[in-house]
Parts: sequence; C-alpha cells; structure tokens
Amino acid sequence: MRRRITAGNWKMYKTAPETVDFIEKFKRFADGMNGCEVVLFPPSLSIPAAVGASQGAPVQIGGQNIYWCSEGAYTGEVSAEMMQAAGATWVLVGHSERRHLVCRETDAEVLKKAQAAITAGLTPIICLGERSEEHKAGKAHEVLVRQFACGIAGLTEEQFAKAVLAYEPVWAIGTGQTATPEIASEAHKLIRAEAEKRFGMEASQQVRILYGGSVKPDNIEGLMREPEIDGTLVGGASLDPDSFCKIVRAT
Ligand code: PEP
Repeated sequence: MRRRITAGNWKMYKTAPETVDFIEKFKRFADGMNGCEVVLFPPSLSIPAAVGASQGAPVQIGGQNIYWCSEGAYTGEVSAEMMQAAGATWVLVGHSERRHLVCRETDAEVLKKAQAAITAGLTPIICLGERSEEHKAGKAHEVLVRQFACGIAGLTEEQFAKAVLAYEPVWAIGTGQTATPEIASEAHKLIRAEAEKRFGMEASQQVRILYGGSVKPDNIEGLMREPEIDGTLVGGASLDPDSFCKIVRAT
C-alpha cells in the first residue's frame, strides 16, 4: 500500500511570517490527522520559520531547489546539505519552471540534483512532464520516456527506492486546465512501466507518483479515485490554507 502525499509548492510566495501564519492554521485543521503525508515547499528564506512552526505537527518541510555540489563558488545556489541543515527533509527536483523558465535545467542536471538530495538524506520529488506543443503533437509519452531514460534511470536501485516522482504536464501548471484523471492515470502507468523496465516490478509498485497541474478542491476527488495517482503536487491552491486543507482532506 503506497501512502499518499499532498505536497504544496509555494513557488516565490510567502515571507517567513506569512509561512508561520499558514502553518498555525494548518495545525488547527490537522490536529490528530493520520492520513496522507503532507509536505510544504516554501521559498528557501522561509524554511527555518516553517521548520520551527511545524514542530510536532503532521507536516514536513522541503526546499524548491538545490545545487548538486556540497559547497563552492556557485553564487546564489544552496546545497542539499545546507537544505538539510536548515531542517528541510524533502526537495523538489526538475520542476518545469526550472527546466523551461528559470534556468534551462537538463535531465542530466536533474539526475545530479536528485542524487545529491538522496546523499544528504533528503527525499527528492523528481518532476517530469510534457510541454503544451508536445502534448498537442501527441508526443507526451515520447517525452516522458526520454525524461525518464535521461534522468531518473541514472539512479541506482537504492537511490530510486528513496525517490518520489511527480507527473506534471507543463500545459496544466498554473493554467487552470488540469489533466483529466484518465490522462493523468495513463501517464502514471507509462512512468510506472518505465520504472519496472529499469528497476524491476517491486520497485515500480512501491514508488509513489504524484500528479501536479491545476489541482484544486473541485477536481481533487476525481484524481484521487485513480489508484495510479499517489497524491498531488499543488501550486496555486496550496497558498490558501482553506483550499489546501480541502485537498488534504480529500486525499
Ligand atoms: C506546481 O507548481 O507544481 C503546480 C502544479 O502549480 P499549479 O497547481 O498552480 O498548477
């Protein structure tokens, strides 16, 4: 049985006081909660406040990005070890905004970041997904296979067992145009099949694959009816405590 996850990617939103305020509200909602795992990904500068505020609560904290070296002359970067020392236990790797918008991250870099995260004791959520033009051209599966082969497949069996994957079709991120549960489920099956080819049946059945892309309280229930979908990575709707709590409850 794969335990579900609700992850909130806050992108470049929420200062430290806003972070504490959100987590205090979430704690009141989650008192005694024993369901899915909940992970919040605030901006780096808000991580220490998030870690402090979430003590004893059923919510874990992660970073949105790391660099693959432990330290060095890499202005502006943060290492996995630094993230871990700040109290984070998870990290997003290969988010499409970093692959396509912020800094053209490649599959090979995504792999190095995932490996660095695991070495430092962080759980990476490795994101993959096709862009709008690839979706329209019917190339979604081809893109997923390539991203898997050029990135995730480079993990060792031991490393793969510590990773979580997220299918995030780029056309669905921040657009309000969520993938239907059927489209998401098909993509998850394909990713799981690639995982089986590379890492074997048991590993492929154990890895958790999240869906991300315009998840909202009004579409979460349909997504959660799909056995292939092990939870969600939520952007915009994770910024408001009420909508995030509704998604957690439905998950
Ligand atoms: C995301 O940032 O990973 C995301 C899925 O965003 P949104 O939910 O806003 O589409």
